[in-house]
Amino acid sequence: MKKRIAILGSTGSIGTQTLSVVDWFPRELEVVALTARSDAAALGRQVERYRPRLAALSHPEPGTGLPAAADCRLLKGPEALVEAATHPDVDLVIVAVVGTAGLAPALAALQAGKDVALATKEALVVGGHLMTAAARASGATILPIDSEHSAIWQCLRGSRAEEVERVVLTASGGPFVDVPAGRLAAVSVREALAHPTWNMGGKITIDSATLMNKGLELIEARWLFDLPPSRIEVVVHRQSIVHSLVCFRDSSVLAQLGVPDMRLPIQYALFYPERPANPLQRLDLVRCGSLTFEAPDLERFPALGLAMRAAEVGGSLPAVMSAANEVAVSLFLDGRIAFTEIAARVGRVMDRHPVVHNPPLADILDIDAWARRVAAEAS
Ligand code: MG
Repeated sequence: MKKRIAILGSTGSIGTQTLSVVDWFPRELEVVALTARSDAAALGRQVERYRPRLAALSHPEPGTGLPAAADCRLLKGPEALVEAATHPDVDLVIVAVVGTAGLAPALAALQAGKDVALATKEALVVGGHLMTAAARASGATILPIDSEHSAIWQCLRGSRAEEVERVVLTASGGPFVDVPAGRLAAVSVREALAHPTWNMGGKITIDSATLMNKGLELIEARWLFDLPPSRIEVVVHRQSIVHSLVCFRDSSVLAQLGVPDMRLPIQYALFYPERPANPLQRLDLVRCGSLTFEAPDLERFPALGLAMRAAEVGGSLPAVMSAANEVAVSLFLDGRIAFTEIAARVGRVMDRHPVVHNPPLADILDIDAWARRVAAEAS
C-alpha cells in the first residue's frame, strides 16, 4: 500500500529534496498535501506535477492567487498548516517549515495520531515536552529527518535504552571554523551562507556558522532519545562524513557514515524500517581521506554555550533562545547586525527571561512573541 504524505514547507530545501525522494519511489509514496510559505509559482508547479488533494500558502503576499487545479483544495493562511497536517488521508506528515511555526502543525498531527517526520528542529526545541506527550498519548511516532539524529536513530537499532551511555553529535564547524575571534564581527552575509559541506536553507546555514544549529540539535536529541543533556556531546568533524555516533556501556561506539546528502535521512524517515535501494552517491573511504575530530570552541562560538545552558535549565528557556535567534539571524541576513551580535543578542534576551517550567502551548506562543519583540529591540 502507498504511504500517503503531507509536506509542510514543500518549496524549501527539505521540501524539494523530499519530492525528489518521491520521484525515486512513485509507486510507494503518494503526495496528499503540500504547503508553502509564500512562493505561489513554485507551489503551483508542484501541484501540477504531484496532484495533491490539498495545497496551501501559509503566508501569501496580499493579492496572491493560487493556480487552480482539478480535485485540489486550495487554502491560504497559517491555519492551513494544521489543516494539511491533520488531513484524513495522510499517514505521515513531513514538517519542514522554518522555525517555531512548525510546532502547532506538528503537535496537531501527533494529536491526530499521524507520524511526523521532523526537519523543523525548533518544534522540539520549544515544545519538546508537548510533542513527546502528544506522541505518547496517541501512539504516533516522531521520526527525525535531521542528519545527525537520523544517524543516532540508525545506530540505536536493536539496542535497549539502558545500554546507551551517551551520544555524540558531529558538527561541520561551518564556514568560520578557522576564522580568528577578532575577525568574526566583520564576516559578511555571503561568507556566512557559504557552507563547506551541506546544501541547506538560509536560516539553518547561518545557524551552522554560529554553531547555534548544533545547540538546537542538542536539545532536539534530548527529546528524541530521552537523554539528559549531560549525556549528549558535540564534536567538530569538518568532513561531514560521520553523521553522529552512539557510545554504549560496554565501550562500543557505533557511527553512521555517508556522503552528505539530506535525501538519505529523508528517505530513512519515509521508509523506516525499510532500506530500499536508491541512486545516491556511494561513500568511497579511500577517496574521502582523513576524518578529523576536534572539541568545539565555545569562546569563538558562544551560541553553542547558550544552547547548552538552555538545555540544562529547560522549561521555557529553549523557546526564548530559539525565538530570539530566529530574529537575530534575520537581522543579520538583512545586513542590520554583525555576525557576533547574533549570539550576543540571544544571550541578552535569555538573561531577561524568568523561566517557566512545563509551559502549555498558549504560554509558549506568548513567550515566543515576547522574545521576538525584545530581540528586535535589544541593541
Ligand atoms: Mg543537522
